[in-house]
Amino acid sequence: MKDAAPAAGKLYVVTAPSGAGKTTMVKRLVELRPQLRFSVSYTTRPQRAGEVDGKDYFFVDQDRFAAMHRAGEFLEHATVFGNSYGTSRSQVQSLLAAGHDVLLEIDWQGARQVRANWPACQSIFILPPSLPELERRLRTRATDSDAVISRRLGEARDDLSHWEEFDFAVINDELETAVAIAVGILAGEGSQARTTDQALRAQISALLQGNQ
Ligand code: 5GP
Repeated sequence: MKDAAPAAGKLYVVTAPSGAGKTTMVKRLVELRPQLRFSVSYTTRPQRAGEVDGKDYFFVDQDRFAAMHRAGEFLEHATVFGNSYGTSRSQVQSLLAAGHDVLLEIDWQGARQVRANWPACQSIFILPPSLPELERRLRTRATDSDAVISRRLGEARDDLSHWEEFDFAVINDELETAVAIAVGILAGEGSQARTTDQALRAQISALLQGNQ
């Protein structure tokens, strides 16, 4: 079923591999755009230290998640790293109806579903400045073993292969520059960040081939 109801606000989808700096960027965006709201997702993954239920995620068990899915309560849902994640349709609709722009921070599988069900959404993919920098960020952040880091790196490379499906791409090299580009996209001025832009496409190809 298509979500064709007229909405006052705009819906944005932001996707990035881990290590691209998405969370920091998105926090800055919300500071700079007071009308922007995050949608709080539902997940079956265990709550991490410091996370707040109802703020970072709604933490639910698999039965509750499956019941919500059956009841059609998710605008999109996906399995990421073995856990279920979903966006509440009613939460998004009521934020949009209240005049807020809404930002979904979800993976590429979910982004695909939102684009199919909500064609007016705008989707943004965030890339790291280079593959070695992505690896460095994954290594410095994690206390994980080499095996876990290698797996994350493999997953991140797989995520990166989906960038062309998005309306916009932002390379997060210097944070404030990347944030400024994203603010431009939200303001409807991001033509140089369109994934159809030839200069940007060449830059991303070089990045992914390790020439940068
Ligand atoms: P984490 O568990 O580390 O917070 O998130 C893991 C991944 O799940 C990230 O790529 C994040 O963007 C994605 N994710 C978080 N919430 C949702 C959601 O509601 N739907 C989908 N499809 N992905 C989500």
